[in-house]
Amino acid sequence: MLSWYPRHRRDLPWRHIRDPYAIWLSEVILQQTRVKQGLPYYLDFITTYPTVHDLAAAPQDEVLRHWQGLGYYSRARNMHHTAQQVVQEYGGQFPGTYQELLQLRGVGQYTAAAIASFAYDEQVAVLDGNVFRVLARVFGLTQDIAAPASRKAFQQLADTLIPADHPADFNQAIMEFGAIQCTPQKPDCLFCPLQQQCFAFQRGLVQELPVKSKAKAARTRYFHYLVLRYADTVYMRKRGPKDIWEGLYDFALHETDSADFPAVAVVDAVQTLGGQLAATQAAEPVAALRHVLSHQKVEAKFHAVELAGPLPAATLAATGLAPYRATEIEELPKSILVANYISNSAI
Ligand code: SF4
Repeated sequence: MLSWYPRHRRDLPWRHIRDPYAIWLSEVILQQTRVKQGLPYYLDFITTYPTVHDLAAAPQDEVLRHWQGLGYYSRARNMHHTAQQVVQEYGGQFPGTYQELLQLRGVGQYTAAAIASFAYDEQVAVLDGNVFRVLARVFGLTQDIAAPASRKAFQQLADTLIPADHPADFNQAIMEFGAIQCTPQKPDCLFCPLQQQCFAFQRGLVQELPVKSKAKAARTRYFHYLVLRYADTVYMRKRGPKDIWEGLYDFALHETDSADFPAVAVVDAVQTLGGQLAATQAAEPVAALRHVLSHQKVEAKFHAVELAGPLPAATLAATGLAPYRATEIEELPKSILVANYISNSAI
């Protein structure tokens, strides 16, 4: 692994750094994200917030706006919170050991191991999807990698493999090996240096390993957005906790059990908010978009509504809706679903 790595590794910006802040930033951004997609975000964040102090001092809306499009927004909120924790509790210095790093919010075993080994040369093995796959195939581990209980067996094995004198290189190497050589669908077994020792290759089980149980089917949710406009403003609100897209901005929302939301329901909904339609007819045509998240599908319809007057103050207080001009909307953090709607409409 150590001789394979220098000959094959991709030249990525975070490979040359020992700064725990930059390593942490890259790891948070790359979780559940492909390198190609995450790279521009990493470069943007490290340029906009070159130190943990800069990130900690930034407003949350601004951080979410930079994160827009990367998904799993709780990562961005945790990241921001962790930066503040590092500044307030650790004087701006990241903790220096694996165990201490685990105390930081949003820093799990994988991220703590990555920072501890890459920044501090601590001998602690990382386990990500790539490492699970390589270990399962080479050593013939048949435990379900989606089951949390399997982690222990993989961790024990990885801990016996990681050398004391090159922990950082080993961790980088095995992850890179999984990413570009021992890939999920078409691993390059023909030119693989581990071919002779590989349990899966020798027994024709490459497609069978690793064992991974299927995720539950995603449930479908139906969102009906009322895009309420008055004069040159559009009413938006910040989403609350305990649901997807916390902290991002969207419109007045009605969630239902089906895709149907007739015009009369739109009129009712507007009137419930204390609004008056400018036209006697109900809403304009509807734009329907589908957005797939890891555990749920959102089918959204946007009902554009011109109001005859502003919404009453009591409605704004009760719903969190507020009027925004187009230039302000541009700066608000939004889900890709909402951002796409806005860029395709006349807002
Ligand atoms: S022989 Fe194939 S399955 Fe085995 S480690 Fe190499 S690439 Fe992976």
